[in-house]
Amino acid sequence: MPPNDTVLTPQETARLRALDARHHMHPFSDQAALAAQGARIFTRAKGCYLWDSEGRRYLDGMAGLWCVQVGYGREELVEAAARTMRDLSYYNTFFQCSHPYATELAARIAEKTPKGLDYVMFAGSGSEANDTALKMARFYWTARGEPNRQWVVARVRAYHGVTLAAASVSGLEPMYAQFGNPVIPTLRMMAPYWYGPGIEGGMSPDEFGLTAARQIEKAIEAAGPGKIGTMIAEPIQGAGGLLIPPDTYWPEVQRLCAEHDILLIADEVVSGFGRTGHWFGSQLFDIQPDIMTMAKGLTSGYVPMSATVMGPKVADAVRNAGTEVAHGYTYSGHPVTAAVALANLEVIEREGLVERVRDDIGPYFQEQLRTLSGLPHVGEIRGVGLLGAIELVRETEPRRFFDPLGRMGLAVRNHATANGLIMRAVGDTLILSPPFVISHAEVDELIALARKAILAGADDYAGGRIQ
Ligand code: PMP
Repeated sequence: MPPNDTVLTPQETARLRALDARHHMHPFSDQAALAAQGARIFTRAKGCYLWDSEGRRYLDGMAGLWCVQVGYGREELVEAAARTMRDLSYYNTFFQCSHPYATELAARIAEKTPKGLDYVMFAGSGSEANDTALKMARFYWTARGEPNRQWVVARVRAYHGVTLAAASVSGLEPMYAQFGNPVIPTLRMMAPYWYGPGIEGGMSPDEFGLTAARQIEKAIEAAGPGKIGTMIAEPIQGAGGLLIPPDTYWPEVQRLCAEHDILLIADEVVSGFGRTGHWFGSQLFDIQPDIMTMAKGLTSGYVPMSATVMGPKVADAVRNAGTEVAHGYTYSGHPVTAAVALANLEVIEREGLVERVRDDIGPYFQEQLRTLSGLPHVGEIRGVGLLGAIELVRETEPRRFFDPLGRMGLAVRNHATANGLIMRAVGDTLILSPPFVISHAEVDELIALARKAILAGADDYAGGRIQ
């Protein structure tokens, strides 16, 4: 139960909601609709649970935004932040300066990433890390005397962030309508979404994996010779609906990138730090990227921090530039965030959380998740480690999506929230990504609540309450 002081009076909750509606612009929200409904105000979190200002408890099936790997309220991380704030509350890493926190952290990250990826630049968010990666790729091509290779291959349904560069390579069409065309010349290829276009093309997952990968060649052709220098991709597309590529996909992408001399940026913002049962998604798929970006799980979301890790090609170009590289943030390697990241990595290692996801709780979660197949409208269940998705469809055999898309997903998500489970809906796909410390009993609770929400949504649909 939450301590009493985190349960606010109804008047206090109403006051905060009114202030929020008046002054606080929320990410990716219809501001007027949100103001009318009133925001849910969270006041406390511990382990895998959150409490709102009215004392309601939620099992957090999303680990915040895929980030709270070690669970909420870990004293080690709190201590690391407090200690560092006392000792070195801030200093920058410009002007020939460093400090133990950023230095140690860079070395620790280099230990965990695939061989050769060992040169780290820090930032504050996933978007900034991807901007850094895209800029370093440009830097590399310019240094190589091929400055025209500024085009980037990205994918439909990709999510790399919202800064102008990261948004340019993301596949979120509404962004372009609202904020103008991409600022980075980008060619978007098909996502490796077998349950969508794979089925429509009558292909097996393996056939489809090759077809989707070979779209790189179409992109190269479309851009014209000497234009494409870089590809950016999430090993598993997260916000795009948890798209797990068929086995044939990544080896073919890797082969084609090598053949056409294209730098590969792996966006590990979601798939990093143990989420798949490996330190990084690149290791799960045996990918050797030229650059990796990471954020979320680096600090378990306790403080904002991200990193861009460069392999030898790009690192050498930067190191041997013979000039200052004109890039870096005030908060690159911030001592407090670096100290929290170090404490977070220590907890992950000491408690064997990556191995736990790989060998114990991950397989258990996957097995339990699959007990939901056979419920009405459950089309595909997919997942790996502590990532799971339930794709709901109007009819399963043959597969027919809901039309319009998204209402069913939203209805089920709302039932889940009302019953005390936080899941995310992407279209009609429900996403789960719980903290690594989730117990077997909590997985059982999560699955039971998800089942209840899906059945309630199916009832709504049968009763004509979802058109
Ligand atoms: N890359 C991926 C794969 C993401 O999922 C996200 C955010 N969910 C980002 C980048 C952007 O991170 P941020 O919101 O910290 O800028």
